[in-house]
Amino acid sequence: MQRQSLCFNQRILSQCSGARTVMGERYAFTAEWYDINASMIKRYQLLFYSADNTVEMFDIKNRRLFLKRSKCERVKLNDLYIGAIVNIHSRQLTIVDFGDEFTTKKLSSIKEKTFGLIKPDCVPSKMGEIIDRIISEGFIICQLKMVQLSSKEAAEFYQEHRGKSFYEKLVDFMASGPVVVFELTGDNAVTRWRELMGPTDSSVARQEAPHTIRAQFGTDVTRDAVHGSDSQEAAKREYDFFFGSKASNLRKNTDRIFQNCTLGLIKPHAVLDGQAGKIITAIRNAGFNISALQLYNMEKANTEELYEVYKGVVAEYSSMVEELTSGPCIALEITGDGAHSLFRELVGPHDPEIARHLRPDTLRAQFGVNKVKNALHCSDLLEDGPLEVEYFFKIMDS
Ligand code: UDP
Ligand code: MG
Repeated sequence: MQRQSLCFNQRILSQCSGARTVMGERYAFTAEWYDINASMIKRYQLLFYSADNTVEMFDIKNRRLFLKRSKCERVKLNDLYIGAIVNIHSRQLTIVDFGDEFTTKKLSSIKEKTFGLIKPDCVPSKMGEIIDRIISEGFIICQLKMVQLSSKEAAEFYQEHRGKSFYEKLVDFMASGPVVVFELTGDNAVTRWRELMGPTDSSVARQEAPHTIRAQFGTDVTRDAVHGSDSQEAAKREYDFFFGSKASNLRKNTDRIFQNCTLGLIKPHAVLDGQAGKIITAIRNAGFNISALQLYNMEKANTEELYEVYKGVVAEYSSMVEELTSGPCIALEITGDGAHSLFRELVGPHDPEIARHLRPDTLRAQFGVNKVKNALHCSDLLEDGPLEVEYFFKIMDS
């Protein structure tokens, strides 16, 4: 115990004198983990060594080594930013702060956050392509959800434009259908996201910046596909509007009867591989209606609840739980008559290897890796569909 405390103090000391190791660099973070059994939040110092992708953890309160330096294949430096949720040996940790001066200096400017929104003109048919574009430009999507704004909420969101000639039309448009809101992290995220969006007027964008999202997906000056914060302050305010404590006032669309629907769940391996946009596009192109969408970081307890029926039945049960808790997943509500069986057909056979041989057009054939990393979970039985959709969009959400 004493030796460990000493070791801990030496670490702290060594951070003050810089964090370059012989090979690569060492980054320090403060991370929190909610211990369900003890009903308390525990704090750790998390060290990441870039040379060999290893992590090491120290229990801050007890001042001792918690996890000796070890490989954690899934965790990359890119995954470590304030607010990130990372899974280390089945513990879901939230990064709450940088842990030393070196890490702060090195990462704070390149891990900027911004807020973005896909407007109602593009949600039904173009959201997959827009999400794909965002991912391929190197942004990390940390939060994502579909929301239906009321006129009052749309008016509040755009209050800086109150009184301008286009305001009423803009508010009506923003409340005319669901929007998809997200938080992005990346180098210079605020500026880069505005650059990727392009000029406000879509026709000007087509003239001046033809590769931007507004040029490619926008219609005119109001229906301009996307919104992006214009400063870090605006990003914080807008993010809070949709994801902060105020967001609980937003119409959640959970007081409804869940019927004629089935669940599609894009698994973490596919999200982390940047396939989410392509999968959403493929679902749309196959004619399905996505009526709700949200990114979740699943806890083990929730996952075990969702997968309860597979326990003791499916050999891969434990690996399935591990996969679903290993990173962000994206839940989709697929609606329409016959959606359940038609969607299962699109998803394809459980094993992507078999799918590639027998049903190469299915989602698992295209995006799956193996039986556990098989791109998507979909509801098994017809009656499971509404229950699983309700689980994500009502129970988990509350
Ligand atoms: N807008 C409009 N007419 C205009 C200018 C803006 O309808 O002449 C709408 C457009 O949808 C735009 C939003 O109002 O995205 C906010 O305007 P802003 O000037 O902030 O443009 P942005 O920051 O979105 O590029
Ligand atoms: Mg603006």
